[in-house]
Amino acid sequence: MKIRSPIVSVLGHVDHGKTTLLDYIRGSTIADKEAGGITQHIGATEIPNDTIDEICGSFISALTIKDLIPGLFFIDTPGHAAFTSLRKRGGALADLAVLIVDVNDGFKPQTFEALNILKMYKTPFIVVANKIDMIFGWETHEGFSFKESFNQQAQSVKQALDTKVYEIVGTLHKEGFQSERFDRISDFASQISIIPISARSGEGIIEVLAMLLGLAQEYLTEQLEINEDAPAKGTVLEIKEETGLGLTVDSIIYDGVLRTNDEIALMTSNNEVLTTKIRSILRPLPLEEMRDSKKKFKKFDEVVAAAGIKIAAPNLDDVVSGSPLRVLNDEEDVEEEILKEIEDITINTDDEGILVKADTLGSLEAIVQLLKELDIPIREADIGDVNRRDIINSSIALNENEAHGAIIAFNVGVHQNSEEDLNNSDVMLFKGDVIYQIIEDYEEWIKQREEAKKKAFYDAIIKPAKFMSLPKLVFRQSKPAIIGVEALSGTVKQGQKLINKNGESVGIIASMEDKGETLPDISRGQRVAMAIDNAIVGKDFDEGDELFIDIPENHYKFIEREFKDKLTEDEFETLYEFLEIKRKQDPDWGKFGLFE
Ligand code: GDP
Repeated sequence: MKIRSPIVSVLGHVDHGKTTLLDYIRGSTIADKEAGGITQHIGATEIPNDTIDEICGSFISALTIKDLIPGLFFIDTPGHAAFTSLRKRGGALADLAVLIVDVNDGFKPQTFEALNILKMYKTPFIVVANKIDMIFGWETHEGFSFKESFNQQAQSVKQALDTKVYEIVGTLHKEGFQSERFDRISDFASQISIIPISARSGEGIIEVLAMLLGLAQEYLTEQLEINEDAPAKGTVLEIKEETGLGLTVDSIIYDGVLRTNDEIALMTSNNEVLTTKIRSILRPLPLEEMRDSKKKFKKFDEVVAAAGIKIAAPNLDDVVSGSPLRVLNDEEDVEEEILKEIEDITINTDDEGILVKADTLGSLEAIVQLLKELDIPIREADIGDVNRRDIINSSIALNENEAHGAIIAFNVGVHQNSEEDLNNSDVMLFKGDVIYQIIEDYEEWIKQREEAKKKAFYDAIIKPAKFMSLPKLVFRQSKPAIIGVEALSGTVKQGQKLINKNGESVGIIASMEDKGETLPDISRGQRVAMAIDNAIVGKDFDEGDELFIDIPENHYKFIEREFKDKLTEDEFETLYEFLEIKRKQDPDWGKFGLFE
C-alpha cells in the first residue's frame, strides 16, 4: 500500500479569486524557493512535500501526515469537474476543498452552490476569505503568513477584517456549519476554519497549505491508500483536440497504475461503454524544456495515482466529460461497473417529472442530488445540449402534468435546430451556469403556477352576496320579473341562482341594466334594474325583501376551508346569514363529513 497525495479542488463564486489563488500556488513565488518547486500535471498541480515543508516550516511540524503523503494535488480547473460520479468512493473526485469567498463581497450564488455540493459529498473543506489586501488601510506584506501580516496592521484594520470574517461565520451558521477564524478554533472536528488571505500578495497561503495538511491528517489517511499495482481508476476532465495527436482525453487518475497499451473503458454521450487501447500517456514538459522544442508534452510508459495525464487513443469522439475511466482486467467486469455507475445518475429516475440536462456527469449528478433533496421528481437526466427529442418528450409530459413540462439545463445550450421547436411549444426552459439559481427560478415558476391555479379556482367559486328588492320598484311581476335592486354585499353576477330568506329558490338573474347599459355584475351600493327568470313577485318574494345568491354546498365548503380569509367583512357576514338560512332547512348543511 502506498499513500497518494490528497486531491484538492478550489471552489467559489466567479471573480472571487480561484484562478489567482491557483496561479499563486503553482506560480514562481513558490517554485523559486529552491525547494524543488512543483510538479506540473495535466489539469493539476502537485506541490511536493519538501516544498510544503520548506514553505510552512514550523506551521506543520506537529503534523505526522506530512511524512506520509507525497504532497498536495490541486486540480487546476475550478469547479464541477472535481465532483463527479464516483459513488463507490463515496462521492467526489476531490478529497479536500477550498471554498473561496471575496471577503468584501461575501457569499454569492455560486458560493452557496459550492457549499451545497460540499455538504452533499461530505467533502472536508476550509474557507478562505480572499482579497484582504483590499480592506481599507491594509498594509501588504508579500508572501507573509496571515498571522505575521495581521500583527502588523493598525487596530482599525484588524477590526474591519474581523467584522467581515464574522459575517462569513454568520452566513455559514445559517447554512448549518460552525466556523471560526482558523487561529481561534477550539475544536477542529466541529468547526470549519476560515483563513483570511490575499491570493494576489500571497498573504495567508502558508496557512492554507498547512490547514489542508491538517484536514488530510484528520480525515483522509485511509481514503488515500492506494494499490500501486492495481488497474487504474480515474475521471475524465475534458476531451481535447491536439495537433499531431488528434482527440485526447485529459483525466485525473486517483487509484492504481496506468500503462501504455492498457485497454481502458470510458463512457460515451449515448450512455454506452467504449473500450480503447492507450497509444500514449502524456504530461506537460517543464517550461524550460518547452522553450527548446516545439513539443508541449512528455511521454510516460506508466503513471501511478495521483496523476493528471493526457491520453492519446483511437475512437475517443463520443467520450463524455466526467466519464469514469477504468483499466480492463481479468478480475472485474469493468464495463458492467461503469454502466451501473452511469445508470445511477442517468436512468429514468422517476416515472414522471422534469428533464435535466448538463454538460458533464459530475454536474449532472450534483443537480440530480440537489433536486432529489428538494423532492422535485426527475423523469430523465442526461448529458448534452437540449435537442428535439427532449422538447417532444417534455411536451408529452406537460400534457400529463404542467409542472413536468420543464427542462433544467446546466452549462448546455439548445441544439441549433431545436430553438424553433422550443418556441413553438409550452415547454419551459430553465438554463444557466449556476445550479442554485436555475433551481431557484424553477421553484419560483412552480410557486407562481400554483398561485395562478388557486386564483383561477377561487374566481370560479360562487361567493356570498345579497341584494334588496327596492320597494315600489317592481316593473314587471313575472316572465321575467323585472325589479329595481340595490346590492347590499359581495358581488352579484348575472346567471347566479337566488334564494329568499326562507331558503326557497327564487329563479336566476337573467340580466342587469343601468341607464341602458347591460352590466355583468354589480357590487355593494349599486342600484340597477334586474330581470329574474322563473320568479313571480308577490309569490316567491315581496318588494323590500333581501335575496341571497345561492352558494352550492361544495363551494361553501371550499370557502370555509381555504378561502375564508379572502372574504371582505360584509361577504363574511353574508356568508353566515346565508348559512343560518340553509341550516334552518337542514341542520347538517355545509358540515364536513368524516372523510373530507
Ligand atoms: P475567479 O473567477 O474566481 O477565477 O477569479 P480570478 O482569480 O480571475 O480573480 C478575479 C479578479 O480579482 C482578478 O482581477 C484578480 O486579479 C482579482 N483578485 C483575485 N484575488 C485577489 C486578491 O487577493 N486581491 C486583490 N486585490 N485582487 C484579487
